[in-house]
Order: sequence, then structure tokens, then C-alpha cells
Amino acid sequence: MDISGFMVRFASEEACEDHLIKLRWKEGFRCPKCDSDQFTLIRPNHRRNAASRAPLFQCKSCHRQTSVTSGTIFHRSHISLSKWFSAIYLLSNDKRGLSATTP
Ligand SMILES: [Zn+2]
Repeated sequence: MDISGFMVRFASEEACEDHLIKLRWKEGFRCPKCDSDQFTLIRPNHRRNAASRAPLFQCKSCHRQTSVTSGTIFHRSHISLSKWFSAIYLLSNDKRGLSATTP
């Protein structure tokens, strides 16, 4: 993917969140406490800082809330996911970084 394709695909915070959800729960979300796959996705968009705005899965059985970003480097970050994704994209496409590991 080139930079313009990347910018279009991950333009919004929600697009980044959806991508992260698919990476973490390839077969769909399951509650870490009771293993239920019945949940409500809560997006607390009214909160002010990026860290507490991360979407939450709320289990319909035991009501445990699991943050989409919990257990990842993004958790409690004050940087938005879209900025993180841009930084990771730029780093992973850095040719100088690659040449350091390949002869
Ligand atoms: Zn549960």
C-alpha cells in the first residue's frame, strides 16, 4: 500500500479502530472473562482525551467491559490511533531501517 492509499484507508479514527479489532479478534470478539461472543460495542465519543475514547466491548452475559486497545501499545496513549498508524506506516516503509537488517 502506498502512502495515499494508506491515508484514504485510515483517514478516520474509526477506520483504525476497526482494523485493530480485526487484528486482535480475527474470529470476532469473545469476552475474556466468560468467553461469550455476545457484546455491545460502546464508543464513548464524548470523552475528551484519546485514551478514554477507545471503543469498549461490553459483554452481554457478565457485563465486563474490554477496551479495544487494552493490552496493546495503544492503551492509555494520549495519541490518537490514526497518528499511531501513520507513525507505524512511515517506520515500516523506511528503507534505511530495512537496509540495516539485510546485507
Ligand atoms: Zn462476559
